Amino acid sequence: MGVIVDKVADLKKIIQNLKHEGKSIGFVPTMGALHKGHISLVERCVADNDITVVSIFVNPTQFNDKNDLKNYPRMPERDIPMLEAAGVDIVFMPTEQEIYPEPDTRVFDFGMLDKVMEGKFRPGHFNGVAQVVSKLFDIVAPHRAYFGQKDYQQLAIIRAMVRMLGYTIEIVGCPIVREPDGLAMSSRNLLLSPEHRKSAPLIHKTLAEARNKTHELSVKEMILWVVNQVNADPNLKVEYFELADANTLLPVESWDHPNGIIGCIAVWAGNIRLIDNMMFK
Ligand code: AMP
Repeated sequence: MGVIVDKVADLKKIIQNLKHEGKSIGFVPTMGALHKGHISLVERCVADNDITVVSIFVNPTQFNDKNDLKNYPRMPERDIPMLEAAGVDIVFMPTEQEIYPEPDTRVFDFGMLDKVMEGKFRPGHFNGVAQVVSKLFDIVAPHRAYFGQKDYQQLAIIRAMVRMLGYTIEIVGCPIVREPDGLAMSSRNLLLSPEHRKSAPLIHKTLAEARNKTHELSVKEMILWVVNQVNADPNLKVEYFELADANTLLPVESWDHPNGIIGCIAVWAGNIRLIDNMMFK
């Protein structure tokens, strides 16, 4: 049986005792409305560590859109049994007051990493992510923490933050879990209208097709092809599609690029914003 904790001081005490007993601690931060993508991270964490801690906290500082924060799905009564079933030891569900007893005014400098793609279209988003994840890391002080490659740029930001702040936490990136029709699982999928839900798999289908066209199309042509392909569905509107260096996330010029190339996309399906990505090289 797992325990549910809502106070920072209580969680710190519990973790301290477990560490004294020599237990390894794994941590999966989430915003709840859990799906199989989250559970895949949890299962990996349970397999790797003696103790698994999962946090559920909808972090206000990472929402640059107030409506998105208001509408974000919250369903703890559904989440908790899922976590129990996956073998989670501790569910941490703090209030906003617990995490931010005072406003967090820290500003992180990630160089170009948070200026491109999500950073460009969601100003302040990654600063909020770094604020909450650093606070959670200080509270949980895990040996390992698990993040999904679905949020590819977020994973890069977390790795940069760990280097910057000198955490000795091992960051484990986990593969994207998809619906049978290819749509990347996301809590926001619950908010899609039936028509938008029907159109949304075109995003992954297009990226998968694009990956087979790298010898037919230049990088520039590929960007146009992907954007046109997705926008051909009137229910979808591409915000950006970029082919970027897999580490720096800066746009690449050609397929001869010396490092890995990641294709990242953000698409509006009605008023719901979806992201996905695929390794191209
Ligand atoms: P969120 O609750 O959206 O903040 O996500 C919590 C964690 O789950 C993040 O590390 C996400 O990258 C990860 N995640 C969300 N969706 C997926 C997915 N479809 N596949 C793998 N990981 C995911």
